[in-house]
Formats: sequence, structure tokens, C-alpha cells
Amino acid sequence: MSDNDDIRSRIRTIPDFPKPGIMFRDITTLLLDPEGLRLTIDRMAEKVAGDIDLVAGIDARGFLFAAPLAIKLGTGVLLVRKDGKLPGATIAEEYALEYGTDRIAIHADACAPGAHVLLVDDLIATGGTARAAVRLLRKAGATVTQAGFVVDLPELGGADALRGDGVDAFALTAFE
Ligand code: 5GP
Repeated sequence: MSDNDDIRSRIRTIPDFPKPGIMFRDITTLLLDPEGLRLTIDRMAEKVAGDIDLVAGIDARGFLFAAPLAIKLGTGVLLVRKDGKLPGATIAEEYALEYGTDRIAIHADACAPGAHVLLVDDLIATGGTARAAVRLLRKAGATVTQAGFVVDLPELGGADALRGDGVDAFALTAFE
């Protein structure tokens, strides 16, 4: 059994979601499983290097991993939300989708300048979302050098692109 097969085996693949030809890696089955959830948080925490001041979770599935990880690391959680959802003054960043663009936002006062922020999401594919989150956090003055994911889709190159941005990206498992 290779590393994290016990996590990988708890992730379900749904073909043709959200559209034909896409193999959607469904982490809801991992979340439903108490042992799977615990292992995921424990193993993510083991991969974090150095001191972290805040864990930033990406809307919405990233939140589910960011909060328990933050508790384990003894930090708070910073929400990277879809634009238009946060009540206070925000800063936003746009990123390209396959068709069109999307925007994510954080509260402008969410982190102290120089704070070491760990970015977390359930999955990295092209890296468009995570890279925009890194730009946004850096705009707010954060130091972002690590990003953790449950799943990497390495063929789509997102983790490599993040590394090119100076972010050490790690994932617990990968699907080709
Ligand atoms: P990217 O911006 O890296 O291309 O896509 C990653 C974002 O889309 C993440 O926020 C992730 O939640 C979502 N995503 C894309 N494909 C999948 C998938 O197969 N499974 C899950 N769980 N999320 C996905």
C-alpha cells in the first residue's frame, strides 16, 4: 500500500460531472468517514513546515479542511470567498476559467502584514484558483510559501505552477 491509499480509497470518482468528459473527484465520501477525515487533517498537519500564523481556506470545500487544520496548528482561519459574500471592506482578485473569469475576495484587514499564511483547498487542478488566492493574500501583505491540498491532478500542472510562484505545494494524493 503506497502512502495515503487509505485517504485516496475514500475519495469517490463521479464521471461526467459537472459536464461530459470530466472525472470529478468527490471528497464528500472522505468527509463522511470519521477515520478518513481524521487521517486527512493529521497528514496535512505533518506536511506543514515551520511556523504558520493563519490558515487560509478557499471557498467552499477548502473551508472544511482549513478549520480543523488551523485548530491543530493553533492558528485562526482566513476565508478566501467568492467575491460578493464578505460583509466588510474587501480586496479581490480575478482569475480565468475555461470560459470567462471568476473573482475571489478576502477582507482587506484579514491578516497582519508579513503574516505567514498557509493556503488550503480540497483539490488543485490547473491552479487558477489557488494562484489567484496567493496573489490576493500577497496583495494583503501576507507571506505565502506553502499550500496544501487533499488531491492533486498533476496532469493539469497547477502544483508546478504554484511552485513557480514560490509556493511549496503539497497534496496527500494524486489522480492521473
Ligand atoms: P483549478 O482552479 O486548480 O483549476 O481548480 C481547483 C478548484 O476547483 C478547487 O477549488 C476545487 O474545489 C475545484 N475542483 C475542480 N475540479 C474538482 C474535482 O474533480 N473535485 C473537487 N472536489 N473539486 C474540484
